[in-house]
Amino acid sequence: MIKTLIVGNWKMNTDSFEAYKLTSNLIDNINHINSVIKVICPPYIYIPKLHEIISSSNLYLGSQNMFYKDAGAYTGEISPQMLKEYCEYVILGHSERRTLFEENDELINKKTKAAIENNIIPIICVGENISERESGLTKNKIRNQLLNSLKNLEENANISIAYEPIWAIGTGVAATPEIAQETMKYIRLILQEIFNSDTANKTPILYGGSVTDQNALEYLNLTDINGCLIGGASLDSKKFSKIVEIAAIK
Ligand code: PEP
Repeated sequence: MIKTLIVGNWKMNTDSFEAYKLTSNLIDNINHINSVIKVICPPYIYIPKLHEIISSSNLYLGSQNMFYKDAGAYTGEISPQMLKEYCEYVILGHSERRTLFEENDELINKKTKAAIENNIIPIICVGENISERESGLTKNKIRNQLLNSLKNLEENANISIAYEPIWAIGTGVAATPEIAQETMKYIRLILQEIFNSDTANKTPILYGGSVTDQNALEYLNLTDINGCLIGGASLDSKKFSKIVEIAAIK
């Protein structure tokens, strides 16, 4: 049985006071909920400070990205060696990284391997854009993203996958639960092809794309879902807490 995973991706938002306040509010609101894994992914710069308050709670920290080398002349990058002191999770291949920073599956594969080697659980994002969906290319795109970004991993790799249709991210137009279920079921099938049925069945698959406290239940009730990746709504402690509460009772 996979424990439900609710992950907040703060993106490039909050100042240091807001980051502290948001985290303290979340600890107050949802620390008592043990049946859900709760992860917040703040901007890098706040991670050590937030780790101080989060380490005595049962919330986890994740990073929104990382480089794949341990150290060296890589100006502006953050390594898994640095992150592993603070973070249990890392989001890799978010569509904003793929489109704005030209990250490709080959790079995401290197980052995935580096995360696993450093005991950080990668949350690998996949998803189609609107023209790919309209041309019937969704499954093709997702299959290729999975095959390439999960290449040459151990059979029992400890990873999570987030299905994030690009057209649903930050738009307020969430995928219908039917689309989300169909695609996540397909993702599990591809995981079985890449690894084996045991790994496919124990890998958390998340849905992300305009999830709010108002629609979370529709997704969390789906057969192949194991949690949600939340952008906008994770910046509001009440909304994020409500989503965690829904996940705990669904
Ligand atoms: C995201 O950025 O991963 C995301 C799902 O954003 P939003 O919830 O705002 O659509």
